[in-house]
Parts: sequence; structure tokens; C-alpha cells
Amino acid sequence: MLLRHTTKEIKERNALTINPAKTCQPIGAMYAALGIHNCLPHSHGSQGCCSYHRSTLTRHYKEPIMAGTSSFTEGSSVFGGQANLLQAINNMFTIYDPDIIAIHTTCLSETIGDDIVQITKKASDEDMIPLGKHVIHCNTPSYVGSHVTGYANMVKGIVKYFAENSGEKSKRINIISGWVEPSDMREIKRMSKEMGVDIILLPDTSDVLDAPQTGKHAFYPKGGTTVTDLIAAGNSKHTIALGEWATKEAAIALENKCKVPFALSELPIGLRATDRFVQALAKFGGVKVADTINDERGRLLDVITDMHQYLYGKRVALWGDPDHLIPLSEFLIDLDMKPVYIVSGTPGKDFEPRIRKALGDRADETRFKYGAQADMYLMHQWIKEEPVDLLIGNTYGKYISRDENIPFVRMGFPILDRIGHSYFPFVGYLGAIRLLEKSSGCSWTSRMRSARKRPLNW
Ligand code: SF4
Repeated sequence: MLLRHTTKEIKERNALTINPAKTCQPIGAMYAALGIHNCLPHSHGSQGCCSYHRSTLTRHYKEPIMAGTSSFTEGSSVFGGQANLLQAINNMFTIYDPDIIAIHTTCLSETIGDDIVQITKKASDEDMIPLGKHVIHCNTPSYVGSHVTGYANMVKGIVKYFAENSGEKSKRINIISGWVEPSDMREIKRMSKEMGVDIILLPDTSDVLDAPQTGKHAFYPKGGTTVTDLIAAGNSKHTIALGEWATKEAAIALENKCKVPFALSELPIGLRATDRFVQALAKFGGVKVADTINDERGRLLDVITDMHQYLYGKRVALWGDPDHLIPLSEFLIDLDMKPVYIVSGTPGKDFEPRIRKALGDRADETRFKYGAQADMYLMHQWIKEEPVDLLIGNTYGKYISRDENIPFVRMGFPILDRIGHSYFPFVGYLGAIRLLEKSSGCSWTSRMRSARKRPLNW
């Protein structure tokens, strides 16, 4: 009984979060920055913050995460971190030679009010930024929002710094990716290529956080959106923003700055959300849906038909990022499963209408909550009141899974106790087949466990 203190009785809480269903803002900013080619993220705060951000990303992606820190001491906490940041910029360009330094703030530097724009201007005035190199920034006070907010802030920062409208429109389509795995980003590129649509994907962590082992250490792996493409994004004819929480602000910034209109869509998780993504690609790319993509859809339908008998009516609890939960809930409904409990630690008032729409007729029978008090403790209490057949979410559900003996599909961020998640996509029709395969595997395990009346072998 790892979570033996979880009580069944639920009391309203206003100022207490227990086992948050989220991580901190700068982790998202760091992940987004890693999706830019030759970019070195920099954490403006204490070493402890940076260690936490790096270690969480390293444990999830099983890759070394390079990042700088302003290494605040008591002195910088009182007098400000300008001197530390200036020295850090100078050191990083001199020693590590990145094309871009992407600075994000932390709780501490936000609380003391460090002005990153003023400090980077000073660095530029004092010739600390070499010609052709860039220093960009975003603010990530982690006492609000979540890792998704930090990701969104950095993506917006990237767009604002780089995109330029030269006055000549290209035929390219921007795709601003929400927070998904490197394999998902690769899958989005593959599907676009199959459709014959020339895209700029930003950010793009494929070949950065799943770079091949070559026997040689590459401080900056070969992947990531290039500066040339980031600038060219301002000339694209349209933008598809995948995931409201992670990409909407960036899409708006790009439209305001460069007059590139955008369409907001869900992440292509599941059947209908992938349909909408494919239709958006066809519409804005001016192409027909490729036969190969239609075949992939047909294969997904076939697997749904085959697996329906095992999944029908299963009660599911899910947690994680809103951009994942909304299309995932819609997909579970399509499978005739019952998403009964949903929590997201990420705030955003659009969550309720969006999740209600995704759940359709089941909305009133589903318990959902978002924001600071939507935590894993509450999820456990709901499950104690009435159990579920399946859990889908990040690593934070593993103790509930063990204590309540419920099968568990790991999905989302962070996943700290498994490998593979960053190599196989969840997006697109192929990703939906993978989700089905994992869920139905758990469903089988659940049936066998019931039949033999013995605990799951974890
Ligand atoms: S929550 Fe704030 S203090 Fe804690 S690691 Fe994140 S940025 Fe640092």
C-alpha cells in the first residue's frame, strides 16, 4: 500500500495540491528550445531548478540534456542575476558555440523581477553575442501554469524572435506542434510528406531527443528546426496549430507579426482528430488525401473492429495535458469505452467546454477537473469510490495502479519508469493502432487477472 494515506472521503480543497498532475513551467520551455537546431537552453535561476528540469527530461527521453544555468547564489537572489546571466552568455558562446541561446526564467528570477530583455540588450551592446548568433527568451514563472504553459511560452518566443514576412508568400504550411514525443513529430512530418505538403514543423525534437547512436558524441544533434526555416515561417501561406494549450499563443503571435493565418486543431490522437488533421493538410496544402494515408485509416478501422469486443464498456481514468486528454477522450468514446475520470493539472478555462464536446453524450457521467487541485490524490479518491478497468496517463499513476491493481497504459509526460515511448508515435492512424494495441493488451491482462484471481505481475 504505497498510497495508504489516500482517503475515500473527498473534501473540497482550495490551497493544497497533493501529488500534482503536472510538472514545472521551465521544463516545457527547455523541451521546446531543444526542438531548434543548434540551440542551447539556459535556465535563469538556481542550479537546483536547472538540475530538476534536466533530470526530468533526461529520465523521460533517456538522452543527455544540455542546458546552462545562471547559478544563482544568495547574492544574485538579493541583488539580481544580471551579472550571472551576462557571464553565462559569454561563457556559452565562447565554450559551447551554439547558434541560439534560449533563456527561460524560473520562480526565483521572476520573483526578484529580472528583466531578461534589458540584460540581453546589455549583452548585445557589450559584444557578447557573436555575429549571426541569437539570444531569445521567454518568461516561465512556475507558480502559475504547468510544463505545457512553459512550452507554449517558449514556442511563442521563438516565433516572435525569428519569423519574418518578406512580402513574398511561399507555398509552405507551418505546423506548430504541441508537446508530443520526437517520434510523433517524425510521424507528423511523414504524413505531410505522404500527402505531398511542404511543411515547416516547429519546434521539432526528432533527431535531437531520439538521435541515433553513432559512437560519437554530438553536443548538438542533427535535428531541430533550423533558423532559416524559423525565419521562413513568416512567409508561409498558412499555419496549422496542433493543440490549443501549447500552440495557440504562438499561432496568434505569428499571425499578428507576419499575417500568416492559422487554423487551430487538436493533436492528431485517435481517429477523428487525425481525420481533422489530414483534412486540414489537404485543404491548406491544396492536395488530395493520399491513398497511402487512406490505407492507414482503413487499417485502423479494421483493428478497431477486431478489438471492439475487448474494449467495449471498459471504464477508464486518464490524466495529463489538456491537448492530449481532449482527443484521447474522443477516441475512447469512438471505441465505446467509458472515460469516467479525467484530471489535468494544467489550468485553462477552455478545458471544460472542450472536454464536454469531446465526451458528447457521456459528458454528464464523467467526473473531470483541471487546475491546481486537479491532482493525483483526487484521482485516487475517485477510483477508491468506484474502480476503473484501465488507467491511461504519465508515470504519476503508477502507485495508484499498484495499490488498486489496475492495468496501466503509460502515455504523456513524464514517463520515468519505462522506455520506448519516445520512439513509437501515438499520433496519426498508426499511433492510434499503437494505443489500441497497448489498451487491448491491458484489457486482456485484466481479464486473465480476474479469471485467475491473482495480482498482476508488475
Ligand atoms: S517550480 Fe520553480 S523553484 Fe521549483 S524547479 Fe520549477 S522553476 Fe524551480
